[in-house]
Amino acid sequence: MHAAMTRAWLIGAGSGDVELMTLKATRALAQADVILVDDLVNPDVLQFARADALVVYVGKRGGHPSTPQASIVAQMLDHLRAGRSVARLKGGDPFVFGRGGEEQQALHAEGIDVEIVNGITAGIAAPAAIGIPVTHRDHAQGVVFVTGHGAGSGEPDWHALVATRMTLVIYMGMRRLDEIVGALLAAGMSTDTPCAAIESATRPEQRHALAPLREFAQVVAREKLGSPAIVVIGGVASLALVREAANGVTGQS
Ligand code: SAH
Repeated sequence: MHAAMTRAWLIGAGSGDVELMTLKATRALAQADVILVDDLVNPDVLQFARADALVVYVGKRGGHPSTPQASIVAQMLDHLRAGRSVARLKGGDPFVFGRGGEEQQALHAEGIDVEIVNGITAGIAAPAAIGIPVTHRDHAQGVVFVTGHGAGSGEPDWHALVATRMTLVIYMGMRRLDEIVGALLAAGMSTDTPCAAIESATRPEQRHALAPLREFAQVVAREKLGSPAIVVIGGVASLALVREAANGVTGQS
């Protein structure tokens, strides 16, 4: 299908800062009749929507239960079949831990083409927000994006990941941080490995914690960091630009 005729978009809103949205995303938003908005999307991005657009929040924050995935797809299909263009707006990038892939499959199964509009994923934006270059060549040959959630396809093979010696960027890892740190130590990762957690990155309320692996979970707990946060584990975390001493003290950057 030609892009100009596309009536369904899966759009990444970026990690929070409205200025990190792409031009393509703002243009698609300006065309949509209906916008289905996820958790973690900065509502300020709706400034790019039409004033008469129907905006539906399907996220679970703000005390509402999250809309089941099947119902989100059903809503999209209803609107599309009624001739309305639909923008599905997700935090970060729609294809990085955002279930965008599942929504694309569901729409394709119904014969509907969906245009993918990338966003800046939190796994890159959050480290960068405190000066961490995730693939700095002095520290890593690559970066692994991994979920700490432990659901879906099951527990990551932490042992194998440690063996890669690559930077680990963990999404959804805060609730199980203790366990994850334990698994990394059990897999032989050095207790001195620099670690960072960045909460609400690129938003005004951004906070972070830095500590070596051996005390990382305790420091994060002491600083009461919570979701949404990205965890970075590896030598690159030593490059965080912070004024505090390197003993794990945290603060606003
Ligand atoms: N599609 C999104 C990720 C969705 S999974 C993306 O590409 O960024 C949700 C997880 O993303 C959160 O648990 C957290 O780990 C991370 N996350 C999203 N926005 C964040 C932000 N502003 N700061 C820190 N972490 C964030």
